[in-house]
Amino acid sequence: MAIAKRAPAELAKQTFEYAPAPESIDHVKIEPRYGLFIGGKMVAPHSKKRFPTINPATEQKLSEVVEADEVDVDHAVKAADKAFEEWSQLTPSRRARYIFRLSRIIQERARELAVVETMDGGKPIKESRDVDIPLAAAHFFYYAGWADKLEWAFANRKPRPLGVAGQVIPWNFPLLMLAWKIAPALAAGNTVVLKPAETTPLSALLFADICMQAELPPGVVNIVTGGGKTGSLVVTHPAVKKVAFTGSTEVGKLIARALAGTGKRLTLELGGKAANIVFDDAPLDAAVEGIVNGIYFNQGHVCCAGSRLLVQESIAEPLLEKLKLRLGTLRLGDPLDKNTDIGAINSKAQLEKIEELVESGVEEGAEIYQPECKLPERGYWFPPTLFTNVSQSYRIAREEIFGPVLSVLTFRTPAEAVEKANNTPYGLSAGVWTDKGSRILWMAERMRAGVVWANTFNRFDPTSPFGGYKESGFGREGGRHGLMPYLELV
Ligand code: NAD
Repeated sequence: MAIAKRAPAELAKQTFEYAPAPESIDHVKIEPRYGLFIGGKMVAPHSKKRFPTINPATEQKLSEVVEADEVDVDHAVKAADKAFEEWSQLTPSRRARYIFRLSRIIQERARELAVVETMDGGKPIKESRDVDIPLAAAHFFYYAGWADKLEWAFANRKPRPLGVAGQVIPWNFPLLMLAWKIAPALAAGNTVVLKPAETTPLSALLFADICMQAELPPGVVNIVTGGGKTGSLVVTHPAVKKVAFTGSTEVGKLIARALAGTGKRLTLELGGKAANIVFDDAPLDAAVEGIVNGIYFNQGHVCCAGSRLLVQESIAEPLLEKLKLRLGTLRLGDPLDKNTDIGAINSKAQLEKIEELVESGVEEGAEIYQPECKLPERGYWFPPTLFTNVSQSYRIAREEIFGPVLSVLTFRTPAEAVEKANNTPYGLSAGVWTDKGSRILWMAERMRAGVVWANTFNRFDPTSPFGGYKESGFGREGGRHGLMPYLELV
């Protein structure tokens, strides 16, 4: 029997209607209101101010958290300072045991953490379940391994912890960013005061519960919730010896100014506008998957997102055709549904920022493409978007959108690709798609980006250092490099 051949375009359009497959939320208990985690227990705050944290997919209030004030932050820093005396003197293998324990409990409570992360932040459950939470556990696991090997990590140097680390994190990977901050700090013998982002405080508060379950000595980890004011109180507190900040370049600059001359150690992980570069010899189908993963993963709320696609002119047409077809198959909707590819935008403010930048792209003359896509009535949503006919001077090609929006530019030669990739104030990451190993190395040598992925994108591993150049910040997190900002090497 002859099998009728169908054109690839026709086949790609055949998306299956999936039955709803929502993750159960029965095993998750979110308290109606939370206190602060200070000195090993949840305490009532001094501040009388509270604010709600909502589910961006439904706009429903999940809980209420404290906006910690100066007294609360002082209380937390003092608890961390007190705990430092014992924690820094603890036999390193015992410190390692506590950190292993945190990792194991994260694994044990992974389902609960994944659901909370998705409800509070809007990201698809398959991402929080398969990426955020396993990577957070892996980070603690990896740094637990370093805790009793610091003497060997830095030859002929004597590593010493610094004291209290003040850490402030954003909302795009809440638990994972917490792990990036807390795991190396504890392994190096420091204690911490961490402030999660105002729209996603819940997984950090769940982590406070995990610290209690692990019987971590009181004060080694302290969690204070609040907005920018609370963050600035944490980083400027005189007893904080080291500041680790992940967030926008704008706030990073404010912090750098505030800390100048104070002698505090500082690392900044800031924004990005990465180039994902596809050469004419690249495997196109794999590249399309890499482009989709690069910019539509986590609704594009990714500092190292491949938000500028640089495609070699000779293959621009077939690549874009494949890419547009693939966009049509992405499922947008309930983040708790296991089939969802694109969840909710994290907040109303972020949605407005994306809309404003997309409008500017249309006004400046770029051509917009959005697949047919029904947006849910409640919540904050933005469809996967692609711009062609983009000039390098357009705002959508220069500014970080932090949403599911891709700008496509073309190039003819490798040199032109490098020039365009580097033509940005940022320098966090880049991607290269080609069949030739020598070309990957040639490109990687010339690009001013902290991470260069080859024939893949957005791949993270605790053993691998991550960080930026230029306005993407300084300092590295992950790997042996990630220990250095938390140690004095004498
Ligand atoms: P943001 O800078 O507004 O906020 C980040 C955190 O800083 C929040 O917890 C916030 O409350 C706090 N904050 C705000 N003002 C502060 C101040 N004056 N002093 C101290 N803390 C303050 O950024 P955002 O919108 O939450 O996050 C998105 C940004 O984060 C994007 O630009 C993204 O690129 C960046 N980011 C970078 C990385 C990286 O590793 N380089 C990772 C994730 C996100």
